[in-house]
Amino acid sequence: MTTYLPPLDDMRFVLAELAGLDQIAALPGFEEATPDLVDSILTEAGHIAEQALAPLNAPGDRQGARLVDGVVTTPDGWQDALNTLTEGGWNGVAFPAEFGGMGLPNLVNAPIQEMWHSANMAFALCPMLTQGAVNAILSYGTDDQKALYLPRLVTGEWTGTMNLTEPQAGSDLAALRSMATPDGDAYRIKGQKIFITYGDHELTSNIIHLVLARTPDAPPGIKGISLFIVPKFLTNDAGEIGARNDVHCVSLEHKLGIHGSPTAVLSFGDHEGAVGYLIGGLHRGVECMFTMMNHARLSVGMQGLSIAERAYQQARGYARERIQGKPAGWTADGKTGIVNHPDVRRMLMTMKSKIEAMRALVYVSWAAIDGAHSNPDSEQQARAALMADLLTPITKGWCTETGVELASLGVQIHGGMGYIEETGAAQHFRDARITTIYEGTTAIQGNDLMFRKLLRDKGAAVEGLLADMDQVARQATTLGGPHLGLIGAGLATAVAQTRQAVKWLLDAAAPNAGLAAAAAVPFLRLMGTLVGGYQLARAALVSQARLAAGTDTPDFYTAKLTTAQFYAASILPEVAALTQSIVISSDLVMALDEPLL
Ligand SMILES: Cc1cc2nc3c(=O)[nH]c(=O)nc-3n(C[C@H](O)[C@H](O)[C@H](O)COP(=O)(O)OP(=O)(O)OC[C@H]3O[C@@H](n4cnc5c(N)ncnc54)[C@H](O)[C@@H]3O)c2cc1C
Repeated sequence: MTTYLPPLDDMRFVLAELAGLDQIAALPGFEEATPDLVDSILTEAGHIAEQALAPLNAPGDRQGARLVDGVVTTPDGWQDALNTLTEGGWNGVAFPAEFGGMGLPNLVNAPIQEMWHSANMAFALCPMLTQGAVNAILSYGTDDQKALYLPRLVTGEWTGTMNLTEPQAGSDLAALRSMATPDGDAYRIKGQKIFITYGDHELTSNIIHLVLARTPDAPPGIKGISLFIVPKFLTNDAGEIGARNDVHCVSLEHKLGIHGSPTAVLSFGDHEGAVGYLIGGLHRGVECMFTMMNHARLSVGMQGLSIAERAYQQARGYARERIQGKPAGWTADGKTGIVNHPDVRRMLMTMKSKIEAMRALVYVSWAAIDGAHSNPDSEQQARAALMADLLTPITKGWCTETGVELASLGVQIHGGMGYIEETGAAQHFRDARITTIYEGTTAIQGNDLMFRKLLRDKGAAVEGLLADMDQVARQATTLGGPHLGLIGAGLATAVAQTRQAVKWLLDAAAPNAGLAAAAAVPFLRLMGTLVGGYQLARAALVSQARLAAGTDTPDFYTAKLTTAQFYAASILPEVAALTQSIVISSDLVMALDEPLL
């Protein structure tokens, strides 16, 4: 019931045809990313996801992570799975060779991460958080810090964590209270962090915590926060493990999903103070975190895609087997699965088309990150950076919200059996639910999109993207035909409606922060829905061209046309409703008095 088959053909299609793998591979430093190598990496990653990680997903959910006598234990099989990734060098796919990585683009890492998270999200969080720590140290570490920590984190010999949240400081990092007092070359950290993913475990010989804290004379608010490296075990410069640092797991959270992932309450400095090393300069902690956030947020957006793919595969399998009555309009003899009930088809196609839209959006976003880091042409680099900045909150916010929606549809397709734990559909729904909350809630992504990405440049970046969409819509409409005509018209209409929403936001909401904030999440949903439709229209153009040129796999490309057509006809029209909602209901939301709520 809970098997997972990596959708390698779909991944290859998006990499090659939509995300521009050949252009990314041509950037300096990525020479290794030849088509053959990428292909064999994906095939091997697919085997690991399917055979080593996926079978642990349901048992890991049932067993969960446990804290007994101060020791955190992860589910059976987690250790072997992590060893497999470490031995294969999988943690270092997108990190520099000088620190033990493979030096490949983030774009190549994207399908690998997608597979890990589809197969077993609770497990995959461990390498994901470690990659976050690597990014922080790569960007801001001193040479000594890089030499000590990076080779061990890149290989996966040690794991990493991100410590932002405190009981009074969640979305609002300005409220952080953890204190870092200078002590010689280092600092002594005291404070409590909550909800720390893989904050403690016995999987590796050390855990490297990245911790936000304040120094005694720091200015209040965001500007007074600094970032510190706090290892679980202190080491010498050669990395040999020494004394236990003063950081301890007080408890593990009991939570809705991702049971196999230990979510720790960590106490820093119950005794002499945990030794921490400043990274990135005094009072630059939030700036450092923001630099890494593009990576971390895209990774969580990816989780929305991954869990939806897993839920879809499971729901499709169930719908083919489950027999229940005769579908309306069904004329063939014999019994057939519920897959042929028109509403089940609608649900499955909704899942499939949104998954394809998400995959394209996520991979294109990673390609933009690669371009922003590695394109030697400053103009193209700036363009890629702009695109990465714009797409990041959309990818995080929309793909996670859509992941939850699709995992819920997966439950619905199972009927009552979806609500019963044994099928596994419920686990996907429970696991998906955290993705819209951590790494910045959907509202925080909406605010980022609204205030930093739309209003700050008066809509210039968004208009640039809309202009690209105009071109694709025109191409599709000009080529016409049964599929492309509808796709082109649908996209053109949605773009025009989006321009209306943008105009209203720039005119009416820009001078009124409350109004802009009320419209932020609807605007994020609008942009996600629209960008998804744009990517599928691009996919349809490519598919039409392949079919016209003659191909060995016509079914594959015909299916892409159908998916894009379905999305254009039944999902893209949501842009009209969202435009209405932004223009009309934002005022209403602002007018609501608290007692009415
Ligand atoms: C399983 C799990 C794992 C986690 N892992 C980590 C981790 O590894 N490291 C770490 O540091 N943290 C971690 N977190 C914490 C997570 O990042 C926070 O829960 C998240 O940032 C939200 O903060 P909060 O829970 O305090 O909610 P709050 O900030 O209290 O938000 C509550 C509600 O208010 C809304 N809201 C708050 N502020 C605004 C605003 N400015 N505009 C609009 N709406 C707003 C939110 O959108 C939300 O709907 C984890 C949490 C969980 C549950």
